[in-house]
Amino acid sequence: MKKMELTAPCHFGLEAVLKREIEDLGYEITEVADGRVTFLGDGEALCRANICLRTAERILVKVGSFHAETFEELFQGTRAISWEEYIPKDGKFWVAKAASVKSKLFSPSDIQSVMKKAMVERLKEAYHISWFPEEGASFPMRVFLMKDQVTVGLDTTGESLHKRGYRKLVAQAPIAENLAAALIMLTPWRKDRILVDPFCGSGTFPIEAAMMAANMAPGMKRGFIAEGWGHVASGTLWKDAREEAEELVDLSVKPDIQGYDIDDHMVSIARENAKKAGVAQLIHFQRRELQELSHPKKYGFIITNPPYGERLHDKEQMPALYQMIGERFRSLDSWSMYLISAYENAERDIGRKADKNRKIYNGMMKAYYYQFLGPRPPRRENVP
Ligand code: SAH
Repeated sequence: MKKMELTAPCHFGLEAVLKREIEDLGYEITEVADGRVTFLGDGEALCRANICLRTAERILVKVGSFHAETFEELFQGTRAISWEEYIPKDGKFWVAKAASVKSKLFSPSDIQSVMKKAMVERLKEAYHISWFPEEGASFPMRVFLMKDQVTVGLDTTGESLHKRGYRKLVAQAPIAENLAAALIMLTPWRKDRILVDPFCGSGTFPIEAAMMAANMAPGMKRGFIAEGWGHVASGTLWKDAREEAEELVDLSVKPDIQGYDIDDHMVSIARENAKKAGVAQLIHFQRRELQELSHPKKYGFIITNPPYGERLHDKEQMPALYQMIGERFRSLDSWSMYLISAYENAERDIGRKADKNRKIYNGMMKAYYYQFLGPRPPRRENVP
């Protein structure tokens, strides 16, 4: 199949991490915009991107882009796209999501219905039929309007990529798996270094880190909507991409990854999730309160998402909790700490200004990723 333009949406602020991942897979980037990275790839790329990317939200085939200020222009622009290249006669197609920023057209439901009508018109002419059974494979569209420029994407993923399939049981406020992966990738942590999450909840950070340590692709154990599109990416391509991913897994690694939580129930959920992910033997989970946090070795990493006082009665406990985080961190010789939190006095209570700080949206909520950098370890042969 010919090269397509593939667009991967991601969390705002994490485009650079995703860009690097796509380059590592071997594809050429054509555009990096707020919250999405576009690259060139064929059917094989489509499969590999879905299976291998840790920080993307989904993979879209960019099928068209045009200017529209009126519904008539939206209709004509949509009808001009060669939908028959993608959607077969019996395909089920609809506009799953319409988002509009600084554009004249903004009503999602109107945009959705006008575009669906235009697609029907186009396909009627292409297939010489007047009625579509829509009983075959699914083709959900996503459309994005930015300053009246309409970008139309065909969703190849289906259920969002952050759903790896391992986290059936979740904590109250779990961090999205792709966000956790991106936050780990922003640190210098590598599989030969220690990683501790003292507030592990459902285990997302330790599990994502363990999957990286074992070189396990995040999408190996789930399905994708485009698996029903033989004419875009054949079953063989999907099979090959999965086999390639499986061959790369190395479960013989011995990383030092630990997850603690004050709540017994959370610890068992985390264990269960790690088992589903296939990395249980690479992580040590244990019920442990923050107060008891210590580690005999040097140069470790804390990567964590502590409570931030989401409920009013929790709010009063935040200063003491963050002071304790600061105290425990200072007791760990030569460690680094990376902490994502929406608690506004995090640095004050920890008692140290972060060396780096990055605004991140965790869903709709504004949070900061505070980075407290420890010294680099001496060259390997000198590590005690
Ligand atoms: N990142 C996690 C969610 C963390 S929520 C995930 O993806 O699931 C914060 C967690 O901190 C909760 O599970 C809570 O039980 C735990 N916690 C709260 N106070 C604690 C303390 N003093 N010591 C250890 N864990 C604590």
